[in-house]
Amino acid sequence: MTETTAPALNAETIVGFLAEVIGRRGAESYLGETVTMAEHMLQAAYLAEEMDGSDEMVAAALLHDIGHYTGEFPEDALDQGIDNCHEEAGAAVVERFFPPVVTDCVRHHVAAKRYLCATDPAYHDRLSAASVHSLGLQGGPMDAEEAAAFRAQPHLDEILQVRRWDEAAKIPGRKTPPLDHYLPVLQRVVAAWGQERTS
Ligand code: FE
Repeated sequence: MTETTAPALNAETIVGFLAEVIGRRGAESYLGETVTMAEHMLQAAYLAEEMDGSDEMVAAALLHDIGHYTGEFPEDALDQGIDNCHEEAGAAVVERFFPPVVTDCVRHHVAAKRYLCATDPAYHDRLSAASVHSLGLQGGPMDAEEAAAFRAQPHLDEILQVRRWDEAAKIPGRKTPPLDHYLPVLQRVVAAWGQERTS
């Protein structure tokens, strides 16, 4: 039985595939925010670039929300009170082609919000209204035990950094480079990880 019509994904095709998906669906609204999905992703990547982030960090910032495109949930899922677990869906997509630091930033970007809300009072005050709303659906701030466990993440610093870029990447009308600007970055990260994995 043929289950999918999607093209076979490999290290040569994954970046083009991601570009096609983001290009086709990027104009959708970003769950209750005042920027589109593509604007949000590009602003996050641009923040990483402005801070001289590594290729891996730029890739992580750009792709942190890619899981929104892999599920079957409607765009207004959060309005309906459903947490669509986009972080796990996104991590499952990227871990096939990207290094663990990128996957971890994707997988844990929601938990990072819950962690930062528990450990940094100033962070909570910076959340958008939509982000405060989804925080409730996502379990609210971590308790002390959860926060202690989260602190043991091997890529904690990178995960928290991507989360802060995520929160800052919601400025209506902010100019960024286009998606095409970031595709060579993604390709470099995929190629480097492919070599490292097979060497
Ligand atoms: Fe986001």
